[in-house]
Amino acid sequence: MSTARATEADAIVVGAGLAGLAATAELAAAGRKVILLDQEPEQSFGGQAFWSLGGLFLVDSPEQRRMRIRDSRELAWQDWLGTAGFDRPEDEWPRRWAEAYLDWAAGEKREWLRAKGVRFLPHVGWAERGGQLADGPGNSVPRFHISWGTGPGLLEPFVAEVREAERQGLVELRFRHRVDGLTTTDGAVTGVAGMVLAPDGCARGQPSSREETASFELRAGAVIVSAGGIGGNHELVRRNWPERLGPAPIRMLSGVPAHVDGRMIEIAQTAGASVINPDRMWHYTEGIENWDPIWPLHGIRILPGPSSLWLDATGRRLPPPCFPGFDTLATLQHIGTTGYGHTWFVLTQKIVEKEFALSGSEQNPDITSKSLRAVLKARVAKGAPAPVEAFKQHGVDFVVETDLRALVDGMNALTGEPLLAYEQVEHEVLARDRENDNPFTKDAQVVAIRGARKYFADKVTRVAAPHRLLDPKAGPLIAVRLHVLTRKTLGGLETDLQGRVLLPGGEPFRGLYAAGEASGFGGGGMHGYRALEGTFLGGCLFSGRAAGRGAADAVR
Ligand SMILES: Cc1cc2nc3c(=O)[nH]c(=O)nc-3n(C[C@H](O)[C@H](O)[C@H](O)COP(=O)(O)OP(=O)(O)OC[C@H]3O[C@@H](n4cnc5c(N)ncnc54)[C@H](O)[C@@H]3O)c2cc1C
Repeated sequence: MSTARATEADAIVVGAGLAGLAATAELAAAGRKVILLDQEPEQSFGGQAFWSLGGLFLVDSPEQRRMRIRDSRELAWQDWLGTAGFDRPEDEWPRRWAEAYLDWAAGEKREWLRAKGVRFLPHVGWAERGGQLADGPGNSVPRFHISWGTGPGLLEPFVAEVREAERQGLVELRFRHRVDGLTTTDGAVTGVAGMVLAPDGCARGQPSSREETASFELRAGAVIVSAGGIGGNHELVRRNWPERLGPAPIRMLSGVPAHVDGRMIEIAQTAGASVINPDRMWHYTEGIENWDPIWPLHGIRILPGPSSLWLDATGRRLPPPCFPGFDTLATLQHIGTTGYGHTWFVLTQKIVEKEFALSGSEQNPDITSKSLRAVLKARVAKGAPAPVEAFKQHGVDFVVETDLRALVDGMNALTGEPLLAYEQVEHEVLARDRENDNPFTKDAQVVAIRGARKYFADKVTRVAAPHRLLDPKAGPLIAVRLHVLTRKTLGGLETDLQGRVLLPGGEPFRGLYAAGEASGFGGGGMHGYRALEGTFLGGCLFSGRAAGRGAADAVR
């Protein structure tokens, strides 16, 4: 095995996901020479963002105003603080990052992206609706703006900028280069060392071989770590799982490819960097097993409308605010108290058609292809969108029946244990059905469904008219088994607003920068405990840009 000679560059960027691309583009725009490394083959260029839905958090945007949504920086900050729940001394930099990010989301962000050619769907989505008090978690108003072209559409301009810089000789891309260590000289990071991995023709997102062919060492004035989070590494997720969430489920699905392995955060920590809030993670509670998987344990998140009845593994209804799409962390925490890792949605064909959307670019081929005709065909036509219908037919987690008893039998058959008593499920279904007969009700979920339909876009595209689940005209009945799906890392490398990684005492670790999920999307956790959604891609862009600018200044 040979070792490649140390090479000089102004900066080395570790990780060619969205954060690494944003950082590289900034460095190149400032005329700096960059080596961009990634452990995966070229097919996976762009990392997780390629698979994403491209949803972006914007505040008081023209799209919102057109939908008659009154939003403001003040309201968004109230929501952010209620959602983040910052409560630790080490939240100082995360909080500063949150404030800077919010200013950007309420200010320059949309125009900056539009100038790069990014466009948004006119319909603004309402993610994380909250369900508690005004200053509690959740979005008071819809803020989730889907990029035209989903994740690949958002990636496009950043890939183009980096490819152009490559043509100009400013950027060198090296795939299959896995960084295993940071090199330090006199207390400053001066380079990286690692292994060159064997070429692999696997498809994008599939796990690639770890066969090593050579070692390498590289030197530069600055190193930016943009190597993503830990979501693909269940062993690390379990190690960091906090007690407050109860025990981690025995079986979880992966919402991210295997290369989201978290190794680089540990490598930077071993070199001396400060890592904060590792116990804060953002895992979804509406995961279903992908019937056509790309990566190991591949799960897809249902982006649910508010109407499905949510039952625990023994058939008891989840309490407020654990309604579909309301408060992910409260729901995860509640599931931790049930003694089981899975829960159930019980719904009707009418609800699945209007309310089920699946997260991910490949699950939304119409928007991803940027074809207006395909979008109209898929979304306006009768029936559920084709990818949802495909899950209904092939997905292992779906049970479809015309009567409730057969549905419960099917649910028990699926888990292989008679955990659900028919009487219990029937009690929950009938109790909620009785609350549908008046335009007013005491049931908090039915109140929320009616409230959501006051938002025009929800009424037309996202929230089924309230109806009895046992109304045969709304059927057949559907039950969906839901798993916890690992996705995002909310803590990480502690950084200041220039993206400089800090030492445990708070001083900058000279030469080292971090961006994206590896830095908790800025500061080591700008989301605090929870997220308002659509804040991750934007967090990668904002922190990647900051680290790129910071490093460009430092190596001037
Ligand atoms: C299905 C899906 C849907 C999503 N939808 C949304 C959405 O709508 N809105 C939103 O805001 N967010 C969404 N996200 C989250 C968002 O896509 C990610 O948080 C974001 O893309 C992370 O980018 P990153 O650059 O920080 O890391 P990554 O994309 O994970 O990139 C890191 C790169 O570093 C490389 N790497 C890791 N370790 C090493 C090493 N040691 N040496 C060399 N290379 C290394 C990896 O191979 C990878 O290419 C979604 C994610 C998924 C998977």
